[in-house]
Amino acid sequence: MKTINDFDFKDKKALVRVDFNVPQSADLKVTDNTRIQAVKPTIDKILQDGGSVILMSHLGRPKGKVMEEFSLKNIIPEIEDVLGYEVKFCPDCLGEDAASMTGNLKAGEILLLENLRFYDEEEQGDRNFAEKLSKYADAYVNDAFGTAHREHASTAIIAQFFPSTKFFGLLMSQELEAIDKVLKSGEKPITAILGGSKVSTKITIIENILPAIDHLIIGGGMAFTFIKALGGQIGKSLLEEDKMNLALEILEKAKLQNVKVHLPVDSVIADEFSNDAEIKEVDIFEIPEEWMGLDAGGRTRDLNHDVIMNSRTILWNGPVGVFEMPNFAGGTIALGESIAEATELGAFSLVGGGDSVAFVKKFGYDEKVSYVSTGGGAMLESLEGLELPGIKAINN
Ligand code: AMP
Repeated sequence: MKTINDFDFKDKKALVRVDFNVPQSADLKVTDNTRIQAVKPTIDKILQDGGSVILMSHLGRPKGKVMEEFSLKNIIPEIEDVLGYEVKFCPDCLGEDAASMTGNLKAGEILLLENLRFYDEEEQGDRNFAEKLSKYADAYVNDAFGTAHREHASTAIIAQFFPSTKFFGLLMSQELEAIDKVLKSGEKPITAILGGSKVSTKITIIENILPAIDHLIIGGGMAFTFIKALGGQIGKSLLEEDKMNLALEILEKAKLQNVKVHLPVDSVIADEFSNDAEIKEVDIFEIPEEWMGLDAGGRTRDLNHDVIMNSRTILWNGPVGVFEMPNFAGGTIALGESIAEATELGAFSLVGGGDSVAFVKKFGYDEKVSYVSTGGGAMLESLEGLELPGIKAINN
């Protein structure tokens, strides 16, 4: 893996693709600056070498139009605050301003280009557009893990114009190492925990990770398709009827590959999909007709705890209950606790992809696990075994 640590940026201009697609409030203030913090080590290294940094990013979905609310200018105060450097701004990513501002950039300076997605060419992966951007710098650095699964001009196409000076940023290499630590060089026993609502969105992940893992804990809404396929009564719980056969096939495949699958054994059920619903705890195979399972039950939490405490490597994707409602967050909190405890005792734990990341941040477990991925879709596609376009472009 060729990272920025393999290059001396002294007197060089680096074009750094970052993912500053941060959430904002109605008055455009940044509400979560994780993605800005995440690229600070990369920027520090280039500046400390004596180089200069040209930052490029997208923000939101302006779809090729210039839209004030999606201007990167709005987040400059936050970027300066987090990075601790002054950041110059270029109000366009092409044109005369961009040419002169990038041309005049001095060692130690940072310039941020305006939102790449103000041009349709970015998402189209336009070669011409990428080539124009490439003219600004001596080296290309991709540190936008959150966008690595997109084959866009600035994330993949542009790399070909830097045949010997294209590098992974430190965030990108950290993300890739974290995935490798689970799927390639993970210390055994390796446990994957998959939750969330649907089996259909996790099938490819399960099939790809089975050869690497020892235990698979299945939870959340997707567990009910397995339980029903095994002959259980699941009431009105989430079900993907057309995936029941597939669920059985997965169990069969897991057995052949010596992976122990842990399905929930009990469930916190409710008489309606509401935090105010009436609640009971029952055996997962015996959910009454009008009721639905919305969280892991106590015995399931204990069993999962035992599996997790006996694991040296843990991968977690997806909540095991409807954690957005306080009455059904307990199972996911218990899971977070177990993973935190195992991590404290030396296990490596990776949390990645969508809602589990939102969960660990909301409940403060982000400090208690080994690594929280910054890329939702990119992490899921990596777990599916795909080589992401942004990664391939640097590796080739
Ligand atoms: P996903 O995007 O597939 O990872 O699913 C995340 C969502 O699954 C969260 O919004 C949870 O509320 C939801 N979820 C987890 N467990 C259940 C359940 N038992 N029934 C319905 N939804 C669930």
